[in-house]
Amino acid sequence: MGEREVVLPEAKRPDAKTKKGQEPDAKAPRGQVKGGARVAEAVAQPAPASPSAPAPTPAAPAPKPKAAPLHLEPGLTVEAPAASSDLFVSDPLAQVATLDAIAALVDACRKCPLGHSRTTSVPGEGNPQAGFVCVGEAPGATEDATGRPFVGRAGVLLTEILKAIGFAREDVFICNVLKCRPPNNRDPEPLEVQACSPYLHRQLDLIRPRVILALGRPAAHALLGSTASLGDLRGRLHRYRGIPLIVTYHPAALLRNPHWKRPTWDDVRIARRIFDGEAV
Ligand code: SF4
Ligand code: URA
Repeated sequence: MGEREVVLPEAKRPDAKTKKGQEPDAKAPRGQVKGGARVAEAVAQPAPASPSAPAPTPAAPAPKPKAAPLHLEPGLTVEAPAASSDLFVSDPLAQVATLDAIAALVDACRKCPLGHSRTTSVPGEGNPQAGFVCVGEAPGATEDATGRPFVGRAGVLLTEILKAIGFAREDVFICNVLKCRPPNNRDPEPLEVQACSPYLHRQLDLIRPRVILALGRPAAHALLGSTASLGDLRGRLHRYRGIPLIVTYHPAALLRNPHWKRPTWDDVRIARRIFDGEAV
């Protein structure tokens, strides 16, 4: 008694596997699976007074309901690559020291065909010292036209989601796995992700946020090296190079299926609690 359990939806939800960007696929995971249970958020409630209990003395302050610690089982863990300080590292990306310098490299990049077909590169934007980073899939049409991430319809929804957990866009850093738009918003090709991911990894390396929110399956896959379904990745605490990482639906998926808003809300509140320093 006295405890309300808020348990995130189960791994094998039938609604989690139908849309573009959400479909599970069966390739062998590259990440190391370190654990398996779901995230459960237990919120302590004061126990109801029994009829025979003596009335509280008026002077005694009422006990404040206190959130119980998050019970977060480990998901995937991604280890750090060689650091720029390691001997013999000659990768120019490992040497860049600012997000602006990464943006300049991105803008000059033609490592994959998207660098030729895009209008404007979209490196990402926000607070370079952000404690909270959102990672999406790839720029869409509005992003390609403006050079800014998440400014189309999905972006408006992401901005609202962030606001609901107390963040302005400027507080956080928002970026994508791919920095150039795939034609007609098609899914990223594996080789494009491979070519572009180093920019994302370096961005995260420089920012070192407290929490990463992976928006949708492609972002989660690129960050965790997993090919698990979104349903399997949601509701767990993953670690990206030591940084807690939570996976949720992509805002574009929420526009197609509003039923996913509620579980997304659960996910982002968990992410916010981790940002706030709750033990994980
Ligand atoms: Fe380079 Fe990434 Fe753009 Fe491809 S998508 S050209 S790898 S910045
Ligand atoms: N979808 C994404 O994944 N990223 C954007 O920047 C916009 C839409």
